Amino acid sequence: MRSLYNRFQLLCILLLCPLFSGLIIADTPITTPEAHFGFKPGSDQKLTLWKDVVAYFDTLQKESDRIKVMNMGPTTMGNPFLVVLISSSENLAELEWFQKINKAITDPRGIEKSVIEQYICEGKAVICQSYGLHSSEVGGPQSVPGLTYDLLSRQDAETKRILDNVLFFMIPDFNPDGGIMIHEWYHSTLGSDSEGSNMPWLYHKYIGHDTNRDGDFLNMVESQYVAKILYRDWPAQAYVDHHQMGSYGARFFVPPYCEPLRPYADPLIWREISWYGSHIAYKLEENNIKGVINSAMFPGWGHFGWHWITPFHNIAGMLTESASSKLATPLYIHPEQLSGGSRGFPEYKAQSTFPSPWEGGWWRLGDIVKQKQIASWALLDLAARNRETVLRNAYQKAIRQTERGAKGDFTGLVIPACQHDPLTMKRMINTLHKSGIDIKMAKTDFSVNNKVYTAGSFFISLAQPKMGLIRNLLMETHYADNDWTHDKNGSILEPYDLSTHTMNEFMGVLVDPVKNFDSTGFITVVNDLELKGHFTPSANGYLLDGKLNDSFVAVNLLINKGIKISRVTQAMKGMNPGDFIVESSDNQALSEIAAQTGVDFNPLADLPQEGIHSVKRNRVGMYQRYWGGNMDEGWTRFLLEKFSFPYRTLRDEPFTKGNLNKDLDVIIFPSDSADMITGQLSERSRRYLSGELPAKYKSGINKEGIKNLIEFVKNGGTLVTFADSYKFVVDEFKLQIRNVLEGLGSDQFFCSGSTLKADIDISDPLAWGMPKKGLVLFTDSPAFMVSPGNRNEDYQTIVRYKDENILKSGWLVGEKNIAQKSALIKVKFGKGKIILIGFRTQHRAQTAGTFKFLFNAIIE
Ligand SMILES: [Zn+2]
Repeated sequence: MRSLYNRFQLLCILLLCPLFSGLIIADTPITTPEAHFGFKPGSDQKLTLWKDVVAYFDTLQKESDRIKVMNMGPTTMGNPFLVVLISSSENLAELEWFQKINKAITDPRGIEKSVIEQYICEGKAVICQSYGLHSSEVGGPQSVPGLTYDLLSRQDAETKRILDNVLFFMIPDFNPDGGIMIHEWYHSTLGSDSEGSNMPWLYHKYIGHDTNRDGDFLNMVESQYVAKILYRDWPAQAYVDHHQMGSYGARFFVPPYCEPLRPYADPLIWREISWYGSHIAYKLEENNIKGVINSAMFPGWGHFGWHWITPFHNIAGMLTESASSKLATPLYIHPEQLSGGSRGFPEYKAQSTFPSPWEGGWWRLGDIVKQKQIASWALLDLAARNRETVLRNAYQKAIRQTERGAKGDFTGLVIPACQHDPLTMKRMINTLHKSGIDIKMAKTDFSVNNKVYTAGSFFISLAQPKMGLIRNLLMETHYADNDWTHDKNGSILEPYDLSTHTMNEFMGVLVDPVKNFDSTGFITVVNDLELKGHFTPSANGYLLDGKLNDSFVAVNLLINKGIKISRVTQAMKGMNPGDFIVESSDNQALSEIAAQTGVDFNPLADLPQEGIHSVKRNRVGMYQRYWGGNMDEGWTRFLLEKFSFPYRTLRDEPFTKGNLNKDLDVIIFPSDSADMITGQLSERSRRYLSGELPAKYKSGINKEGIKNLIEFVKNGGTLVTFADSYKFVVDEFKLQIRNVLEGLGSDQFFCSGSTLKADIDISDPLAWGMPKKGLVLFTDSPAFMVSPGNRNEDYQTIVRYKDENILKSGWLVGEKNIAQKSALIKVKFGKGKIILIGFRTQHRAQTAGTFKFLFNAIIE
């Protein structure tokens, strides 16, 4: 830690020594973006390439003492992920000190008020802005070189004020892999009919547009880097991610958000968001930028991506949205093509939140870049002018949230060590820890409200600055059901994304809210929990718990090594159907797999001779289409790889070629509409989706593929469909199944992204390792009924919605429509079977509580 005296000394040295003065920096030439890239980023038909951006930052770091470039590590595809810190050279020389101040202000528990006052006096506002979160929204990353150059080269008072008062953490490209893909795609289409069209596949190895749906679960490595900065190392006072939206409405959106509002943030957050947002909008109008709107389109209750989760970290989280050109190709827009028609923006006319409608004409990448640069600068400018207020508010929010948490209906949460799947619970604890939530662990048994909890249980106090985050992630949540969420005619104004993001419900983890609980004697979780399974050599084999998701990783690794595994098929002493029995004397391999997966290898007294069968790992293929790619497919790929399942990606060709049984036992169709799978898209939706794509990217398994798929199942194959893809199967296989929700208006039935209670038939191998009663995530989901017919006996419901009080968290309108209906149905078809999973068994690799329905379809 630096003392005040040392800081004073340093200041004197800096003032006396001309070498350190701004004059010298002014004379140091800073390479312009034009000189480095050979064009001005934002020019028509030009995009920067990530390696050139990285090289530019490298050059800038050599030329300027106002910048510090941090390489956080490799991206998913092995490119460098950068966080760039820009501030005055004096501030950059004292980062340790400012980090200590920032941490104290954003979590002031146990620190004297007088010390905090001193810190507010000395501290710097921490502001974070990210670009390129969605790689097809190219304006953000193209604005970065110019913005950086200005901050490093300008010598005026306004720039100096920003550098002196703000630590600006810039994420120049949130998804460099996607940026590289878009660059390649765009240049390959230049000059052709497809110029400016969307890329036919996902712009991230796994998750495409969902890069901003991972701020809570942090599944992606890019998310983990940003969480490290934003949630732990440098909690910002304001955060913005810079996006683009459709081409034919307003030119630019900036918060405040419209209604409804997600609860449990400090109210000051929403006022701050309005304050920053208004300054950004004001600066744009001042610069004669037309078409700026706020308080519309984007509600204050959204998904848990970065700009929408940060308010619950006490960070003023915002997004900007610019109208899109065709990547870097200009788009001409006629006045009559411009329209409103969304929340808070009923028609394309001037209103108080949209005072200067843009009148149409050419719309270019350069227009977007200009908007982003003004907006980025405005945020820094406001924070710099109000440094002390910004810091005092950061302190206020942290203190008030802590106080609210101490006084609420519940004051903390106990997470029992005894869980259906304790290893998944521990993985959840590690994710919460990465989010900067304070967690304590019990060293001994204890009891609350007559319930006994064993040592190793966890306690999370609500009396901490991130109270709002904890409430939203771990406590029952009900989406707003009021005038803000209904149309005049009674139909629903849909939530922006899921209606709940209750992590423990998604993961099947039990959490008990408690009041006035004393956790004295508990130890604070300082590092991620080390998850190492026990292994003691045994002559009679080992039992692996089939309730643990991670047992499937262990089984996959064991199969890869050729080790013999059986599966328990009936309940026996200490064993349940679905448990795995491992026979091997390769102690080194087993102990390594136990350590790697966290799964205990429990020594057996005797090897059972009956009630078991040999494990079969099915050969899996999963359909992958073009038309921009399917995120559900990408997430499933990610999940399969995470759990070490081998799989094949199937484009159209294997389907049209036929003989699918030769290489495959199981074929998965991720959630998708029938026309996307079959390729029977209307010309209009084709153009809407992708622009004019080259013919080879117009995918679809077509009639021939469907015929071969039917043959595949008849011959003994297993077909698995997620959510929406049930439809083409029901139609094409002529199944006796009806989706009871089809044709219902949203006033009759509505349920988007909610956890629902269901009964599970755990006697069926598909549900082995599951609890009898569980929660499933319902979103864009069907609910099935077997229609009367000749083959009723071929249909078996494995998961069924409860009869009443079905909703756990989220929003459910018209409960009676799904009561007792089938949520997962298994159909005998020829020698094979079809498994229609209506709920989201593996949604965004988040719903760990239901992964096993997929895993059991592969490992039998
Ligand atoms: Zn976006």
